[in-house]
Order: sequence, then structure tokens, then C-alpha cells
Amino acid sequence: MKAGVIAVQGDVAEHAEAVRRAAAAHDEPAEVVTIRDSGIVPDCDVLLMPGGESTTISRLIGREGIAEEIRNHVRAGKPVLATCAGLIVCSRDAKDDRVDALGVVDVSVDRNAFGRQKDSFEAKVPVAELEEPFHAVFIRAPAIDDVGDGVETLATVDGRPVAVRDGPVVATSFHPELTEDSRLHDLAFFPDSRVIA
Ligand code: GLN
Repeated sequence: MKAGVIAVQGDVAEHAEAVRRAAAAHDEPAEVVTIRDSGIVPDCDVLLMPGGESTTISRLIGREGIAEEIRNHVRAGKPVLATCAGLIVCSRDAKDDRVDALGVVDVSVDRNAFGRQKDSFEAKVPVAELEEPFHAVFIRAPAIDDVGDGVETLATVDGRPVAVRDGPVVATSFHPELTEDSRLHDLAFFPDSRVIA
């Protein structure tokens, strides 16, 4: 499996480790490549869109021609895991002119919507398809405020969706790469043959 981590900004090494762990559980060798230029996404089987600052990520992937390659990857039905700012960039509408939303996940989001008090927090979140709750780390996380018809909500906090699946894309408003738990990567990249329940 060739996994590409969009590496213009954000948690690149942590995601790389999490993919390797998930792939190892399937006895599948994973080659992880970092992506800062166009021309690499088309060779990838799966993609990771890390957190960071969505305005910056959006500007850089647009400028480098990576944005259109990500859209084509999703159109081809290939898996993506998008986390936090990655979710914002992948959304249909980020309600911020500085984010050129890719529209590959049919949700609208509110950036930094969990408010100052809850800028960063952790919660044990039940996730559809996972047997045990997931220890989720939220850092200036976006809230998903509108979910399109074809979108499956995988997890909620206070009644708000925080993890969704839209076709080949799994998107979370939290950071699954910040714990040793690779179940979200497994859920995204091995939807039909998961071994980490
Ligand atoms: N608040 C950031 C944004 O709006 C996202 C934060 C994160 O990725 N941890 O882009």
C-alpha cells in the first residue's frame, strides 16, 4: 500500500506512524510518502490530510496543483483520511473565503467552533463500527454543522457530528494520529477487512 501524507503543514510523522501500524496489523507493507508537490498523489493508494491551519493548507495545495489531484483521487474511489484542518479543507463549505473547500466531503463546517473554553479537550467518543470508544483529542477543532444525504455520521460529541464517512473519505474533527490507537486509520483504509476492532 502506498500512502501519501499531504505534508505542506501539520502532523505528518504521526500520521505516517499510524498508517504503518494499521497496515502492519493487516500484514501489509506500507510505503509512506510525503507530498509537497504535484505528481505524487496519482501514485498513491490512500491519502492522509493532516490537521494544521486550513487557510494555509488550502493556499499551498491550490498553488502547487495538489488540490485537483486530491479531487481526482476521491473521484476514483480511493480512500482518504482527513483530520481537523484536513476535514475543513475537504468540506463542501468552510464559510471562510481563505479556504477553497475541495467539496469531497458533503458537509459544511464552522472553524474553531468548539469555543475558547473548549479550545482543546479530550473525550472518549463512541464510534460506529468500533467496539470500544476512541480517545479523541480535539485541538481548536471544527464543528460539522450540516451533513449531506449521502454522508454517514460515525461519531458525535454533544449532539454534533465529529466523525463522518462520505464514500471513500473518512473525516474527523479530532486528531486520531495523536494516540497509539490506529483504529480510525484502519476504518478509513481497510473498510472491508478491518482487523483492529
Ligand atoms: N483551527 C484550525 C483551522 O481552522 C484547525 C486546527 C487543527 O487542525 N488542529 O484550520
